[in-house]
Amino acid sequence: MKSFTEYLWFHVKTKKAFINITPQIEELVEKSGVSQGLCLVNAMHITASVFINDDESGLHKDMDKWLEGLAPHEPVSSYKHNVGEDNADAHLKRSVMGRDVVVAITEGKLDFGPWEQIFYGEFDGQRKKRVLVKIIGE
Ligand code: ZN
Repeated sequence: MKSFTEYLWFHVKTKKAFINITPQIEELVEKSGVSQGLCLVNAMHITASVFINDDESGLHKDMDKWLEGLAPHEPVSSYKHNVGEDNADAHLKRSVMGRDVVVAITEGKLDFGPWEQIFYGEFDGQRKKRVLVKIIGE
């Protein structure tokens, strides 16, 4: 069995962002040489997510609005976590959007359903964060 590990770094200039990282993951699957297997992609920070959905800008605006409704950033004093920091909402958004995804690799390609794309979700940006990519198979 082959095993391949790589880390992607992100330094998002804004507080929040959804970034389509599918092309980078496809590159790594190719580099791994795995033809049949599994690809795990996970955010290594507790205020960022990796998730799968449609790359459609209206949907991204809807998601952002929905998340702000669930966990508004302001007022920061409304969160018990916000002692010396102001990112409680980002932890909650991360919990809702998830930590990781696993995608099957079939014949050397990510085996997606219709319109599926992999996203990095940033909820407390303006700092460096890592994403782990682990590919196993043969
Ligand atoms: Zn925090």
